[in-house]
Amino acid sequence: SVIGVLRETAAGERRVALTPDVARRLSDRGVKVLVETGAGRMSFFDDAAYTAAVVVTRDEIYAGSDVLLCVRRPDDLAAARPGQILVGLLGLDPNGLNGVTAISLDRLPRTLSRAQAMDALTSQANVAGYKAALIAAEACPGFFPMLMTAAGTTRPAQVLVLGAGVAGLQAIATARRLGDQVTGYDVRDAARADIASTGAAVLDVAAPSAEAAGGYARDLTEDEAGAQSQGLAAAIPRFDVVITTAKVPGAPAPLLVPAAALAAMRPGSVVIDLAAGNVAGSVAGARTLTGNEVTVIGAPDLASTVPVAASTAYARNLLALLTHLMPHGEPQLDLDDEITRAVLLSDREGARP
Ligand code: NAD
Repeated sequence: SVIGVLRETAAGERRVALTPDVARRLSDRGVKVLVETGAGRMSFFDDAAYTAAVVVTRDEIYAGSDVLLCVRRPDDLAAARPGQILVGLLGLDPNGLNGVTAISLDRLPRTLSRAQAMDALTSQANVAGYKAALIAAEACPGFFPMLMTAAGTTRPAQVLVLGAGVAGLQAIATARRLGDQVTGYDVRDAARADIASTGAAVLDVAAPSAEAAGGYARDLTEDEAGAQSQGLAAAIPRFDVVITTAKVPGAPAPLLVPAAALAAMRPGSVVIDLAAGNVAGSVAGARTLTGNEVTVIGAPDLASTVPVAASTAYARNLLALLTHLMPHGEPQLDLDDEITRAVLLSDREGARP
């Protein structure tokens, strides 16, 4: 069968779905790989690096591929043929897919151990959490670590990470390596234990564990959310840096740093919102300064800013998924299989349940 790699069309997207290395591995299995001209350029993989693939135009990719690979949903799906298979982080909305058989990694059953190698949400969140800590260090007007020099000893920065899933835990680990003092917080007991296991402090905000199916958080009740905001509002002004990553599947990201909490922070403090919605007034992709000179950074797409690491991990996730979906080189969607059934977002007939 033929696999085609599309160049990403989303503005500012720098990742590519397949690296030359993974293209070679697929080709070694007898799969023909087509790569769109320039697909890997923003990840520093030139066309010439795809020695095991054929570099062609976008029209040729759409015309000649059985399986199309992307990171984010292409904006020209009208060019795809009904029944053609499209694999990517396609989101959860089955509409607008033009009859393609859409395989969305956003729907992977992540707690299944045999799905772990395919888990692109985890690999990309890991990259994002790492970059968040670096951006925080760069935006912070003081040192992160305690430094003892002839000019005196510096106070280590105090960093608070709200939401300790994959991205939050990597932000905690990376910030700790930079030498600051890190405190973490999450609504799930399991995540609080994960924070403690990194050696970071766990913020003590009284709340029951709010765990739902699949290891995700559930939406808090109004009372719980009220108690949480009070606890957080009291704690947040102590910190130089706050990194937020809190998400709830199927619900808007919870507001954890309201305007009043920002107003109570010291000038020069930095707040980074990875969830696009945890911080009052955060604007995706922008740095803004509050009236009291707190820098607020909206950063929902950080994986794309570390394109080599993100693409390399994503391509390996795709290799594992394709190996599962195409055990003999031809796509065979076995709907009795738990993983295949879960990731199938829509097909020729429209949305899948
Ligand atoms: P996510 O991006 O959906 O959420 C990030 C974090 O925000 C979560 O830890 C969540 O508990 C937290 N959160 C939600 N509401 C909050 C609130 N009001 N206040 C504070 N924190 C809040 O989650 P994710 O990082 O994609 O994954 C979360 C969990 O999913 C993992 O920690 C794990 O339990 C499960 N998971 C399991 C596997 C696996 O078993 N291989 C892989 C990936 C994820």
